[in-house]
Amino acid sequence: MASDPVQSAEDMILLIPGPTPVPGRVLRAQSRRMINHRCPAFHELLQRVTAGLKPCFRTAGDPLLLTASGTGGLEAALVNTLSPGDRVLAVSTGAFGKRFADIAAAYGAEVSRLDVEWGLPGALVLVDAISGLLATALEHDAWGLDVTVAGSQKAFMIPPGLSFVAMSDRAWEASKRARMPRFYFDLEPARTSLAKGENPWTPAVSLVYALDEALAMIAEEGHEAMLARHLRLRDGVRAGCRVLGLEPLAADSCASPAVTALRVPDGLDEPQVRARLRGRYGVEIAGGQGHLKGKIVRIGHLGWVSETNVLQGVALLGQALRDLGRPVDPAAAVAAAEAATRGNA
Ligand SMILES: *Cc1c(COP(=O)(O)O)cnc(C)c1O
Repeated sequence: MASDPVQSAEDMILLIPGPTPVPGRVLRAQSRRMINHRCPAFHELLQRVTAGLKPCFRTAGDPLLLTASGTGGLEAALVNTLSPGDRVLAVSTGAFGKRFADIAAAYGAEVSRLDVEWGLPGALVLVDAISGLLATALEHDAWGLDVTVAGSQKAFMIPPGLSFVAMSDRAWEASKRARMPRFYFDLEPARTSLAKGENPWTPAVSLVYALDEALAMIAEEGHEAMLARHLRLRDGVRAGCRVLGLEPLAADSCASPAVTALRVPDGLDEPQVRARLRGRYGVEIAGGQGHLKGKIVRIGHLGWVSETNVLQGVALLGQALRDLGRPVDPAAAVAAAEAATRGNA
């Protein structure tokens, strides 16, 4: 960072909805030397991480590991279950809902994005839980979900490059009839290879090491504790930012434990707020997408994020707003954020 000789881009407080901060333990795990991905040590590693992914998805089945970002997992969910001409109802609440629908359309599905026609007999439920999994409750088996997709660089605390796909028995049945073209993302070879502890293609071995370590951290914290922490972080961000005059976009009743979108008040230039926060204070937050670009900022609080990080973020956002001429009180915002995180303890 130009203004601070001791702080580099790597030292930033990363409060964006992915990639999320990577713990030192995980970084060290992924720096190990390469091994053969067709050797007993890798077989054991893949079997261990697959076992560790099951409780994350709350499924008894084996989640499959793909070397791809989250979007690859979404593509796999669609091409393994659908055929061209199949009707898809895209229930979308944000920019990524549109992406899921766009992939379906690219493969020739009949996508309806508006009208909700519930109770389609035999309909499969495909869920984009890329940022949601481990940040908020999701029960793949108990909720009867058919394909659930997650990604590495969100609550899993590892770098981008892996996605995870859990399939129901119904989804596997559908995959026998599905006629969308597929090759790299064909899940049948992934399932067959997994029985031998392998991936069909060369996996991102370093990321699997990272996953192994991250799953150990997730088990140490505990699933319930991890979800509770995300709720505390969410409440802290919302309370602190409200004191700074930034209103959350979503109502409290449906607020996300992974990311908080906040309206930028009139008279403030959104890119200027983020530039000040990054350039002077070393805190990275995200802007809006699509029609909300320039109107909101998004603060990610998922994965390896602590209450201290959230308090730092709120304090420094307040300071940046003051620098830009807003009459705000960063100390009051920090106090409100701190009280709100305790409220959820
Ligand atoms: C991050 C994210 C994506 C995009 O995943 P990539 O890893 O960028 O391909 C899709 N959906 C949701 C909900 C996400 O949070």
